[in-house]
Amino acid sequence: MRYRFCMACGGRLRRVREEGRVRLRCRRCGWTFYGNPIPASVALIVRGEKVLLARRAAEPYQGTWDLPGGFVEAGETPERGLAREIREELGARIRSARFLAFYTETYGPGGFPILAAVFRVRLARGRLRRGSDVSELRWFPRRSLPYRQIGFASVRQALRLFA
Ligand SMILES: [Zn+2]
Repeated sequence: MRYRFCMACGGRLRRVREEGRVRLRCRRCGWTFYGNPIPASVALIVRGEKVLLARRAAEPYQGTWDLPGGFVEAGETPERGLAREIREELGARIRSARFLAFYTETYGPGGFPILAAVFRVRLARGRLRRGSDVSELRWFPRRSLPYRQIGFASVRQALRLFA
């Protein structure tokens, strides 16, 4: 991680070894940057023989296929964050969501760590309306998923295991 300044006081960070890990600590106020993963919730949506993927409209991995979902906001449960993201990205409501697995991943160049919870989701009836984070929505046959056009390794893994 390339962070250089303290979020609390703006002092310079230095690298310290602690519990077998390298952490960043402020020289001035002693605040420690642990670099914990940021939680995300994503949806595996299968209908018959098809899987719904969303093409990313923005970096990182702009133009690649992804599972719908996104980062959990402060105060949200993973399920509520998932419901909000699905509303934003697909214009849809969730009928049921069942937790499948966690994945670790890094986000962006020199990226920060994320912890993604993958849910098997059934959508309520209704027409999909894609949000601004998504440039295209497409149902792919589960036997011919576009693995080479998927940016996140964790998404490829989740699809191999659960789709
Ligand atoms: Zn500080």
